[in-house]
Amino acid sequence: NNGQPIQQHLYKILVIGDYAVGKTSIIKRYCTGVFSPNYKLTIGVDFAVKELVWDEKTVVSLQLWDIAGHERFGTMTRVYYKYAIAAIIVFDLCRPATFEAVTKWRDDLNSKVVLGNQEPIPVLLLANKCDLKSSVIDAEMLDNFVRENNFIGWFATSAHSNINIDESMRFLTSKVLEVA
Ligand code: GDP
Ligand code: MG
Repeated sequence: NNGQPIQQHLYKILVIGDYAVGKTSIIKRYCTGVFSPNYKLTIGVDFAVKELVWDEKTVVSLQLWDIAGHERFGTMTRVYYKYAIAAIIVFDLCRPATFEAVTKWRDDLNSKVVLGNQEPIPVLLLANKCDLKSSVIDAEMLDNFVRENNFIGWFATSAHSNINIDESMRFLTSKVLEVA
């Protein structure tokens, strides 16, 4: 790269949403490339890091924070959200109640974290488990929902079958680089 210094960025990204929608599986799939079906409930806050070579002079490290077992409270503490530059809200396409909870997560987020310029952080919506036959995707409804609720967009994903995981994270990263 003509001797230019490489810029290294580290970004904290929150992954939230109801219990068992696939947050941990998405993080694992993205950061390690594997899907492990063994269900394990861990309590505590955990994160995984994915390093992305964005272009010839930019390396981006995404630090994906997993709320790991705190979902049942429906809210997180301000400390947990601190310094986050973006968020992902996940719901399960086979469980409508988890979609209904999306706005609650969004409100909790908006009330506790903003960017340096006081604008809300970019939030991506992931409609997970699209590999399952019982999943229902209403694209028009989701298009309207993200527009009306100020999400940057939505993707139907599958951590299980590795569908749209890299694509959605790339899209989120491009938005992060716009606000960073
Ligand atoms: P979390 O509570 O949101 O972290 O959810 P987990 O990642 O622990 O996943 C909950 C359950 O859903 C586990 O049994 C996973 O194996 C399963 N799961 C997660 N993502 C997918 C997916 O994309 N497709 C299918 N079929 N199952 C999934
Ligand atoms: Mg989990």
